[in-house]
Amino acid sequence: MTALALRTVTRRFGQTRAVDGVSLEVDPGEFICLLGPSGCGKSTALRMIAGFETPDDGDILIDGASMLGVPPNRRPTSMVFQSHALWSHMTVAGNIGFGLKLRRLPAREVTDKVAAALELVGLAGFEKRYPAQLSGGQQQRVALARSLVLQPKILLLDEPFSSLDAHLRLRLRDELKAIQRRLGLTTIFVTHDQEEAMALANRIVVMNRGAVEQIAAPGTLYDRP
Ligand code: ADP
Ligand code: ADP
Repeated sequence: MTALALRTVTRRFGQTRAVDGVSLEVDPGEFICLLGPSGCGKSTALRMIAGFETPDDGDILIDGASMLGVPPNRRPTSMVFQSHALWSHMTVAGNIGFGLKLRRLPAREVTDKVAAALELVGLAGFEKRYPAQLSGGQQQRVALARSLVLQPKILLLDEPFSSLDAHLRLRLRDELKAIQRRLGLTTIFVTHDQEEAMALANRIVVMNRGAVEQIAAPGTLYDRP
């Protein structure tokens, strides 16, 4: 079954068609990159999948069920943002476990799931640290763990590595790809960096002015004339 479907989704802001009739079908376990210049509608598309924005037209389906009217915390999605946005007054464990506590999981289970998520991102044993005690790369790994711990059906990432230096960006890219493969996780990754999209994606969705310009496997992407 299709993991995620966008059906002629449109979102306007005043006169701007931020997303203009976008359709897309994503298979389970696929790694999709939304690629395009700043302002082409990538983030708005991602935010509609997460439920932070509402389409003016069209529908978004996850595992065949319409997400219209479903609030973000009831969708089987989880989002990793560009700046890690960790809560500075909470420990690493507090940050990662927060969403599980909201779901009223028993403390023991929260502890175990937090430890497993930290292990997945290579930060086993970091529970008691505070964000300020971590490097930028470690903070972004914690942000990834905070999303993974919710066991989303679809992982959403909005330029998650763009605040990191080039070397770290390449490392985290490899780590993310390895985790995604291991979990078989359906992933939508927003970037304006073609090289990053080529390295990560099974399919690249090239957007321009709110519309899909082409959908291609990384090897077959053609440049705009
Ligand atoms: P991208 O992620 O590709 O940079 P965005 O989805 O952020 O593009 O933006 C697409 C278009 O929608 C841009 O023209 C942007 O200025 C506009 N836009 C996005 N969010 C808002 C908003 N909340 N209010 C008004 N305009 C917005
Ligand atoms: P409410 O508090 O609105 O009455 P319930 O506690 O009855 O909702 O929960 C309904 C379902 O939604 C349960 O399966 C519960 O696990 C789940 N749920 C509740 N809160 C959240 C949340 N913040 N995020 C995800 N799922 C939640």
